[in-house]
Order: sequence, then structure tokens, then C-alpha cells
Amino acid sequence: MTTHIIDGKIIAAELRARVADEVSRVKREYNLVPGLAVVLVGNDPASEVYVRNKHTQTQTAGMASFEYKLPTDVSQAELLALIAKLNRDPVVHGILVQLPLPVGLNTESVINAIDPAKDVDGLHPNNAGRLAGGFSALSPCTPLGCIMLTKTVHPSLEGMNAIVIGRSNLVGRPLVQLLLNENATVTIAHSRSRDLPKLVKRADLVYAAVGKPEMVRGTWLKPGATVIDVGINRILEEHGKTRLVGDVAYSEALQVAGAITPVPGGVGQMTVACLLVNTLYAACAIAALPKPTVQVFADEVNFGPHRGAR
Ligand code: NDP
Repeated sequence: MTTHIIDGKIIAAELRARVADEVSRVKREYNLVPGLAVVLVGNDPASEVYVRNKHTQTQTAGMASFEYKLPTDVSQAELLALIAKLNRDPVVHGILVQLPLPVGLNTESVINAIDPAKDVDGLHPNNAGRLAGGFSALSPCTPLGCIMLTKTVHPSLEGMNAIVIGRSNLVGRPLVQLLLNENATVTIAHSRSRDLPKLVKRADLVYAAVGKPEMVRGTWLKPGATVIDVGINRILEEHGKTRLVGDVAYSEALQVAGAITPVPGGVGQMTVACLLVNTLYAACAIAALPKPTVQVFADEVNFGPHRGAR
């Protein structure tokens, strides 16, 4: 059996191109330029790379990009004042505060301060609650990317057995809700789950979002399963160099899976592309314009309500 490698790089490039097309149409027809503001506090090198990447991709898609760099010792009040200003600014349609924040800042109150209509990270309780309730919502970017990648292999997820390993607010929980919207049957696993290999064995779709290098073994998988590896782990090799690996033992999984995302080159590529999608959607929703189409595959991701709902 040949395992299909789900190429996140190509798929994300395709998605970004579709977003750029829609951005230019919206500009032409409605004179609207979607704008994304990214706030970076401190000088964590990994976060700086992510923010630079978001800035470049936002501009390449034809959107306005606003970057705010604040020092590590910025006060909570100053950060909240900036968010309040961005909430009011009509040229800003999406606000993203790069996480994690330096110690001493209260992440929850920062997220809560973002206008839910501009919450392109999908982390505000209004959006998380709407998604959980099956209503349309701005959804977190990484889970959206996971669903899009899955749909390149399975245009319909209806009735499929999925397992999501990990229950964080950023990845696991919203991914579960998006899978329910697609009418998959979902098992949620976490650090207290019993007999994880047995749970994984039943799944047609396996989503690993744990943060533990190569934890999911090839022998756990059902033959032919589709494996979406969210994990990004940097491991130290014998010769002192580091290497990125996922949460799935890739070479083992290749022997069993029907389709799999590589690390790097899989889910990670989709996250920023989905941020652009969310910014475009937010801009159109704020301007009360029809929802744009950025359909890349046979069937667009369902932001809710779930298919078949009354
Ligand atoms: P968190 O640390 O917030 O959550 C990890 C989850 O894994 C928790 O729910 C935890 O369970 C569960 N877990 C931990 N150990 C086990 C175990 N032995 N068996 C089963 N479940 C376990 O991580 P995130 O969700 O933020 O990220 C997960 C991974 O995804 C990381 O590697 C991260 O780097 C990566 N990531 C990648 C992104 C991308 O763009 N590709 C974006 C975001 C994250 P419990 O709740 O019980 O503690």
C-alpha cells in the first residue's frame, strides 16, 4: 500500500492564492481592504519568526498588515489600551495577540478584551461558545487547517470515526467541534484516557495534538487511517543538531496509514493561511458583505451550524 502524503505546503499555497483572489475582488467590488493587526509582546525568537511570517503572508495576500511590538515589561493596562484602540480602528478587521505572553500578563483578560468580531484567532469565549453551540463563529486557525487537510483526502467526513488526542482550547477542543460540524463521530483523548492505543485503533481519522515527540506509534493505527499530526517538537540529535518531529512516529505510520501529514510541511503550513481566511471573513462580516468563498476543495469547511441541523 502506498501512503498518500498530504502536502501542507502545496495546499496552503493554493489556499493563500484563493484568499488573494477574493481579497482583490472585495477591493474591486466594495473598496474594502481587509486589515490584520498582530501584537507581539517581548522578544521570544520563535514568536518573532511567526509574526514576521504572518506580516509577509498578509501583505502578499493584498491585505493591510499592522504590527505592534511591545516591550516585555509592558503593563497589562497598556496592552489592554492598545487592544481597545484596535477594537475601535475601522481599518483593522482582525486582531491577533501572539501567545504565549510573558509571565506577569494575564492571557485570559487579554483575549477577553478583543472584540469577538475581530478575534481571528477564535479564542474569545464568545467564539469558542458559538462554535461549541454549533453556531457560525471565527474558529481557531490550526484546527481549521486540520479539517481542510483532511478534506483533501475525504471530501465528506460524515459518519467517520475520528479521534482527537489533546483537549487544549487552541487545538483539541475546537477541532472536536469542527469535526462534529462535519458529522464525524468523535472520541476525545487526553492525558487521563485509558488504553490510548485501543482507542486510536478504531479511528478512521487520527488527530495528534499532544506535544510529545512521536508518541503515537504505527502499531496503534488502523490500516488505511488518515493521520493529521499537529505536533511540533524539537528534538536533540546525537550530533548536537536539532530536528523537528511530530506527535506521530512518522516512519512507522507510513507503513500503516492511508494518508498522513509530514512534520514539517503539514499542519503548520496551514495555520497562517487559515489566519488570512479568518481575516477576510471578519472584514466582510464587519462590513455586512456576503460571506466570500475561499473553497479550495470539493466541499468547504463548515463553520457551523452542523450539517443536517434544522
Ligand atoms: P497543550 O499542551 O495545551 O495540550 C496538550 C494536550 O495533550 C492536553 O490536552 C493533554 O492532556 C494532552 N496530553 C498530554 N500528554 C498526553 C498523553 N500521554 N496521552 C494523551 N494525551 C496527552 O498543547 P497544544 O494543544 O497547544 O499543542 C499540541 C501540539 O501541537 C504541540 O506540539 C504544539 O507545538 C503543536 N501546535 C502546532 C501548531 C501548528 O500550527 N502546527 C499550532 C498549535 C500547536 P490534559 O488536558 O489531560 O493535560
